[in-house]
Amino acid sequence: MPGKKYRLICFDADGTLFDYNRAEEWALKNTFLEHNLAFSGKTIETYRKINKSLWDRLEQGNIKIERLKIERFTKTFPGLSEKEALELSKTYLEHLKKTGFLISGAEETIRALHGKYKLILLTNGLAKTQEGRLRASGLYAYFDAVITSEEAGCAKPDERIFRMALSIAKVISRESLMVGDNLTADIKGALMAGMDACWYNPLYEEKNKTEEYLIIKNLKELLNFLL
Ligand SMILES: [Mg+2]
Repeated sequence: MPGKKYRLICFDADGTLFDYNRAEEWALKNTFLEHNLAFSGKTIETYRKINKSLWDRLEQGNIKIERLKIERFTKTFPGLSEKEALELSKTYLEHLKKTGFLISGAEETIRALHGKYKLILLTNGLAKTQEGRLRASGLYAYFDAVITSEEAGCAKPDERIFRMALSIAKVISRESLMVGDNLTADIKGALMAGMDACWYNPLYEEKNKTEEYLIIKNLKELLNFLL
């Protein structure tokens, strides 16, 4: 399946190229401190559970991004007004935008693929945040385009967002590979759109092997297939 037939490689951002846990914790910590709210491991754990379930609802098309931005804070801090949550959200996104923490192997992999393939970042994150983080990471210049669910008006695994990438890169689906850490959003979505897929799973166990898509534990493994 994998090989040099590709012309376009799409990458998911969080959990694939970006170390989201580190970025989130750093941004939340600064936000809570600025707004005089309690910061502890427990607060972050609660926030993460709430945020995860809201993003799941977003991927199912059951909540809009503007509601998600508010509810992840009103649910973490009961008693917080929606107006306060909106302020918190603004501060948080400003901090998050500055975080360019990368996953090990991401920079070498992207630099090595640049110039040989068209590269698109395909992310369910927020437009300004993801662009800011990509710039902060130093990888911005290597990408041909950034597509966010916010701008696309639909989220992975909706195949329309993958088709948007194909259309921007002017390639057909079988000439393209999607690399991501989420089996539903990234892998199933890409396969539905007719693209090939590569599951980045650092905790991968051999017994889960499948013919349907490629599995890698380290991003640099991609270079064995693509260069
Ligand atoms: Mg991801």
